[in-house]
Amino acid sequence: MPLRFEELVKSAPIRRAIAEQGWQVPTPIQQKAIPAAEEGRDVVGIAQTGTGKTAAFVIPSISKHLDREGLHTLILCPTRELAEQVCEDAKALLKHTELFVGVVVGGVPMGPQVRDLRAGFDVLVATPGRLLDHMERGNVKLNGVETLVLDEADRMLDMGFRPQIDAILQYVPKQRQTMLFSATMPNGVHAMALRIMADPIWVEAAPQSTVAANVEQLVYSVRKEKKPALLLELLKESHWEQVLVFTATKIGADVLEARLSSAGVKVEVMHGDRDMRQRHKALNRFAEGKVRVLVATDVAQRGLDIEGISHVVNYDVPRQPEDYVHRIGRTARAGASGTAVTFMSAGDIALLKDIERLLGYPVERISLPEFDYEGGTVADQPAKPVAKSNRAGSRMGTRKAHELSPEELKELLKVG
Ligand code: AMP
Repeated sequence: MPLRFEELVKSAPIRRAIAEQGWQVPTPIQQKAIPAAEEGRDVVGIAQTGTGKTAAFVIPSISKHLDREGLHTLILCPTRELAEQVCEDAKALLKHTELFVGVVVGGVPMGPQVRDLRAGFDVLVATPGRLLDHMERGNVKLNGVETLVLDEADRMLDMGFRPQIDAILQYVPKQRQTMLFSATMPNGVHAMALRIMADPIWVEAAPQSTVAANVEQLVYSVRKEKKPALLLELLKESHWEQVLVFTATKIGADVLEARLSSAGVKVEVMHGDRDMRQRHKALNRFAEGKVRVLVATDVAQRGLDIEGISHVVNYDVPRQPEDYVHRIGRTARAGASGTAVTFMSAGDIALLKDIERLLGYPVERISLPEFDYEGGTVADQPAKPVAKSNRAGSRMGTRKAHELSPEELKELLKVG
């Protein structure tokens, strides 16, 4: 029997905040992580964004410290976007308590953060680089920290934050509770968990590297130069309501934005060369439905928590198979359904195979004659081949090609 929030969360003010969010039942990772953390155990959580992992570490971190003043919980995140998202989530959960939560991230002026830090937070969410800056200037002291959370630890190591994390750990008391969350558990993260944690409990939201079952996954084979045209073709479908498109490079993102924009598509772009204000604006306009498409590099891959993303498009195939899982985790959030579409060109076959190896199953291929790259479909089918199909069904709700009339098919596939 799954536990209810009434059983899982002892603190009434936190239960009230949970009820106000409309959450009915704890998610699986919350079911597993909260009781262990409440007992004081160190916790390693294998969970993707979208599983409810943030509340899984925020709730136990704060519920133990409701009457304590001063910085007691430090949450480290890899990116500004994720840190701000976690701070917002924590704020909502702390709403009826006396605790203050704040965020310090890079890319914005130090001054206001210094003032905020001096005023004092009980819970601090930070990216490692900026936190170290503040520590070196004496703006923040970590000697009262009792709970340390490393969120998206795999991403932090990927981004080269290991030295900063090690430096920060020097200043956090050894006697503490540590929680580490990660979507995947590569060797580096595993080793770090063993090094910095004391006999942790390992909890998993779903088997490692799985994709939510309610995400439909499709691979379109497409010639490189035809990618913009294919995307525009797909965008003709009205059920492509809120579309997040990932490109490999910042330039690629800018070029695609310009192309979509000139075709009349409402679009924003978000990548590392945009400053914080521009990124916020892009995100907000997308979240509020003012634009239909957000083109982004992997900056947006994680921590981007927008409800209602109907489609994620891998305009370029991610180079790391794990990134595929993270990217498509942006759709079908918290129980909704969604579609993830990957554009595969001739040079991407090996990358696709790696992704399918990680997933453990082949992803359905679609080839539309006018976009398909030559000879790239039948010979390159994965181990458990899915028949090459002109999957008109995906372009027409749920109908399959054989359910359409010849006229409809002809129109859809634009042949003859
Ligand atoms: P996260 O994995 O922390 O990024 O959470 C993904 C989304 O799920 C967020 O929008 C949360 O507000 C939402 N969420 C978290 N816990 C629950 C729950 N128990 N029931 C419904 N939604 C939840």
